[in-house]
Amino acid sequence: MGSHRTRLSARPAGLAPAVVMIMLATAAPPAVVPARRVGPTTGAATALRLAGDPTCVHPAPAARVGPRAPGRRDPDELTAAQVALRERETTIRYARRATADRSAPKAIVIPVVVHVISKARTRAGGDIPQSMIDAQIAVLNQAYGGRTGGAPSPFRFKLAKVQRVTRPDWYPIGVASRQEQTMKAKLRVGGAGTLNLYTGLLGDGLLGWSTFPEAKLTKDDGVVVLAESLPGGTMKPFDAGDTATHEVGHWLNLYHTFQGGCTGAGDQVGDTPSEGEPAFGCPTGRDTCRTRPGLDPIHNFMDYTSDACMYQFTAGQVNRMVQGWVAYRQH
Ligand SMILES: [Zn+2]
Repeated sequence: MGSHRTRLSARPAGLAPAVVMIMLATAAPPAVVPARRVGPTTGAATALRLAGDPTCVHPAPAARVGPRAPGRRDPDELTAAQVALRERETTIRYARRATADRSAPKAIVIPVVVHVISKARTRAGGDIPQSMIDAQIAVLNQAYGGRTGGAPSPFRFKLAKVQRVTRPDWYPIGVASRQEQTMKAKLRVGGAGTLNLYTGLLGDGLLGWSTFPEAKLTKDDGVVVLAESLPGGTMKPFDAGDTATHEVGHWLNLYHTFQGGCTGAGDQVGDTPSEGEPAFGCPTGRDTCRTRPGLDPIHNFMDYTSDACMYQFTAGQVNRMVQGWVAYRQH
């Protein structure tokens, strides 16, 4: 895996304290690379096999599991140690980068560069029409603007460019594959505040995945979604564009609502009730953490429910995204 493995193997998860020390001591702290959790029933095994080295750590994309893998565990859920490391890093970076005025900016406009990966210049070949891309940008603005029923955030999305790329050898795109690395290395543009959104056919039955913000911007940074998950797509009931809403949430530093299950600080957000496992469909009234307050947050964009079921971010998630923006993506 060339540079991928070299870069990653230099930062085993066990070196967490050293990484934090380095971050404190340098102007440009190294990225903290969360490892995939290896489990017999997860997709991690596939990704690790693709990476060619089952012992190295990976940047953890946050994949949304598709309908062809019902009940499958999230291949990219972080361990408690990885979350703790990310939290420390975020706190340190935020403290260093926030200005005296820490009030949330009125509006943060994120330029979006859409890379349409196809195997042929047909809809069936992945070459989705401009109307679907425009509709996706509108869905993001509605969701992040609080116009679907959730808390409003300052984030707005502006389509900057659409790049159409016909590459049969990138179709489908495999998560954490050499092909994904090559694709992003060739195509990614802009700084940490530019959202690179790749659409195509995805391997492993996935609807999408995303990188979390990292201290050091790399070509990996971005969101990958199934083309037919865009509004008007064919991937029912994930055809209203909320796969991108969910993945952009990760790109803005949100965890899944079921991160950490029923114990501890979960997704590190105070106003999202704890959730023991992902929810699929729209299981109204579900309560997987009986000893914790609140029903499962099945309507939250950071769960795994159907697009029609998810419609909100909470105020706590908005605060976390803004803090993450300041810590990692501003400037
Ligand atoms: Zn996710």
